[in-house]
Amino acid sequence: MRVLYQLREAGFDAYLVGGGVRDLLLGREPKDFDVATNAHPDQVKDVFGRNCHLIGRRFRLAHVRAGRDIVEVATFRAIPRDDGGDHETDNGMILRDNVYGNIEEDALRRDFTVNALYYNIADFSVVDYGSGMADLRAGMLRLLGDPEVRFREDPVRMLRAVRFAAKLGFNIHRAAERLMPGMASLLREVPSARLFEECLKLFHGGQAVETFEKLRHYRLFDWLFPETERCLGEEEDHFPITFVVHGLANTDARILENKPVTPAFLFAVLLWEPVRRLAGFYVEREGLDETASLQRAGSEVLVRSLERVSIPKRYSLDMREIWQLQPRFEARSGKRPQRLLSHPRFRAAYDFMLLRAKAGEAEQELADWWTRFQASGEEEQRSMTQEPDGKGTSRKRRRRPRSTKKSAPVTE
Ligand code: ATP
Ligand code: MG
Repeated sequence: MRVLYQLREAGFDAYLVGGGVRDLLLGREPKDFDVATNAHPDQVKDVFGRNCHLIGRRFRLAHVRAGRDIVEVATFRAIPRDDGGDHETDNGMILRDNVYGNIEEDALRRDFTVNALYYNIADFSVVDYGSGMADLRAGMLRLLGDPEVRFREDPVRMLRAVRFAAKLGFNIHRAAERLMPGMASLLREVPSARLFEECLKLFHGGQAVETFEKLRHYRLFDWLFPETERCLGEEEDHFPITFVVHGLANTDARILENKPVTPAFLFAVLLWEPVRRLAGFYVEREGLDETASLQRAGSEVLVRSLERVSIPKRYSLDMREIWQLQPRFEARSGKRPQRLLSHPRFRAAYDFMLLRAKAGEAEQELADWWTRFQASGEEEQRSMTQEPDGKGTSRKRRRRPRSTKKSAPVTE
């Protein structure tokens, strides 16, 4: 409100827009606030001074600090006119949209009608240039304009449709929904760094399982994680692959409990199936030990995935460690458990192993052992590691565990 009023006092029009208005009208807590104004970025800078930072190369935005929050202040923009210039690709994808416009033009370049509502502090009204209010009441995600054109302009809008549908429990309008599987391949043109950011929003929004299922339904997942999709299409020992769903359900539960989630763990989950399979192949065909095969499979799958979704190195290093530590949980005697426990990536690798057990891919008994081991005092830990691996405990299996393990010895 302070940002809005300050702009108004300086003689500009300023509106709250986007998810902030949408979520408040739905009685939900907005994630962040966006302001649209007729002030140009330099003018916004003049109004807020040191509390304002101008960012962005593609289009300039102002980040205004308001207490602990950052409010994004953007100047009204228009959809660039098709003047034969170089603002779009041959496929109609918009490359630059830094043309200033008026509020109505600004509304029409937004993605969904429910995202194009403007709260006006001048008279406390909500300005609606589409069918935003009606669609909000109906729980409908409707693109502004021709959905095919709008998806072509920016294929990420398909991912946004899925994200909002899962988050708000809305339906994607039939005309747009029909187009998605056929247009999914346009995601190929989207820079991989942007897809990484978008993946975080998709899977760290608290609705990862539902989002994942919808992404698969509309054939969008295939364009983000093609190798994982290929694995998911096959059953193993007549069991469907459930690991990813377990992992995403775990992510959702953590977010619900306000526990931290990390991109490294998320992407380790999303890419584990192809890594595990390829590692299994190397163990079987090339006689590599488990750790070495996971190392090689991990690198290969990562390199190929980066073409679609560019995972920053600081995360991919952790991902590889999470994967490579998996065989080390098998060793339960001597000093090795203690050594694993003090590994900096132990916690993530342990959580990952619990998921593997849930998915029937590691022994539940092994998972329980490690849970007990961590909670035990020194004395008990010592006695736990004196027994030969797994002795005295039930080896009953829920079903045949799927693991990369053959008879290869565990190495460190
Ligand atoms: P949330 O912040 O809860 O994820 P949001 O709707 O605020 O949802 P943002 O990504 O913060 O989403 O974007 C703010 C607004 O900018 C959107 O509501 C929409 O009006 C507009 N917008 C964002 N991305 C696009 C896009 N790809 N195409 C068109 N308009 C967009
Ligand atoms: Mg927002």
